[in-house]
Amino acid sequence: MYNLMHGSLAGINALLPLEYQVIISTSEYEQLVKTEVTYLCYYCEVQNDKQDIEIFDLQPNSIQTLVHGKMLNKVWNCTKCQRINMLNKTSISQTVLQNPTFLGIVPEPPTRRNGLMDKLKFNIEIERWAWLCLSELEFKMAKFRDDNWNKGDDELIGEIDTSLDDKEGGGIA
Ligand SMILES: [Zn+2]
Repeated sequence: MYNLMHGSLAGINALLPLEYQVIISTSEYEQLVKTEVTYLCYYCEVQNDKQDIEIFDLQPNSIQTLVHGKMLNKVWNCTKCQRINMLNKTSISQTVLQNPTFLGIVPEPPTRRNGLMDKLKFNIEIERWAWLCLSELEFKMAKFRDDNWNKGDDELIGEIDTSLDDKEGGGIA
């Protein structure tokens, strides 16, 4: 079942001219879909990668408690200057892909593992992968069709349209 599906998708891909083929590469795909979240340090203005910092609770001091009530402050340490930044005053920037689909690249299909739970997980993963692969293929095929449709066939299309109009006109009269 899985082999058949995988074979079909690979077969469709292979039929397309090289420049329209979907690239199957996990490393290239992950590079493209990577979301970068950075936290700007208020003091030294260094961008800290989200995975490098740890957000923790800081007990409010007595004055803050008096003014704001008993609230914990979410803070994080700058990796460069080590100073504590308040999370709610931190400028957070996010680099997200504008269009996460139609990258022209899909990751390699998930591999089959042993064990019942892994089999269930594999089925979900392979189905997700197949849909991703299929949508990329459909996009490439549509692009291939559109690119070739427009190659000097405009005059021919015009002739067909005219003759159809004449026939319809004749039928009504
Ligand atoms: Zn800093």
